[in-house]
Amino acid sequence: MHRKLWLAAGGAALAMLATFMITIRPYAWPQAAQQWGPNDRNRPEPPIITPGTESTQENPGRPPSDAIVLFNGKDLSNWEAVKGGPAKWTVGDGYFQTVPGVGDIQTKDSYGDFQLHVEWATPNPPHGTDQDRGNSGVFLHGLYEIQVLDSYNNVTYADGEAAAVYGQYPPLVNAARPPGVWQMYDIAFHGARFDSSGKLTRKANVTVFYNGVLVQDHVEIMGPTAHHERPPYTPQPDRLPLRLQDHHHPVRYRDLWIRELKEGQ
Ligand code: MG
Repeated sequence: MHRKLWLAAGGAALAMLATFMITIRPYAWPQAAQQWGPNDRNRPEPPIITPGTESTQENPGRPPSDAIVLFNGKDLSNWEAVKGGPAKWTVGDGYFQTVPGVGDIQTKDSYGDFQLHVEWATPNPPHGTDQDRGNSGVFLHGLYEIQVLDSYNNVTYADGEAAAVYGQYPPLVNAARPPGVWQMYDIAFHGARFDSSGKLTRKANVTVFYNGVLVQDHVEIMGPTAHHERPPYTPQPDRLPLRLQDHHHPVRYRDLWIRELKEGQ
């Protein structure tokens, strides 16, 4: 009698375990949020980091403790020329600057989805008008340009202003500061995804704060940015370098840092 009971209990336990593995397992990792009810104290806490400090015009702020610093204020050791070889932009006191004609530079490392902070300043006094005035660009994944331009009292086509997704989305407002003044972009970016056959499964998207003002609100990027055209997506790796544009104007950069996001964040 005793033995039969044990066998029955053992059988029931095995059945429960099998049911658990079949029903729970597919949901346990990728959709972790669904296994937690409201206010569950067993739910893992977020990692603790030390937030950064605000920049002033005189000094760049301190990045959050978990950020990757892309410019150490002294040299371009994290950067290289897009056409190959070392990055030959000049480095000043706490900033670096485009050298007109030298060409674009890019990070030596590649990044997937991320939060990015960039500060930049256009020449003062300003030179030129329209697109020919303090033009540079932050190319996310080296493909999608967030326009850098002196857009202070300077009219150009809407989707070519500072903080535009170039040729696709104008910024919601023109939040430009005057030339020579440090300005900042805070960007949240999720790259495109392709399946193993190269088919596009997710378009890239981007959110941009320009000098603290929301100017791109989670817009879906149409494809690589270009002048007078909108090329289609082509299969790309999930992780790519960040690129800065030499548009033949001496634009300065400082305080560049990036925080990579985990899949699903
Ligand atoms: Mg540009």
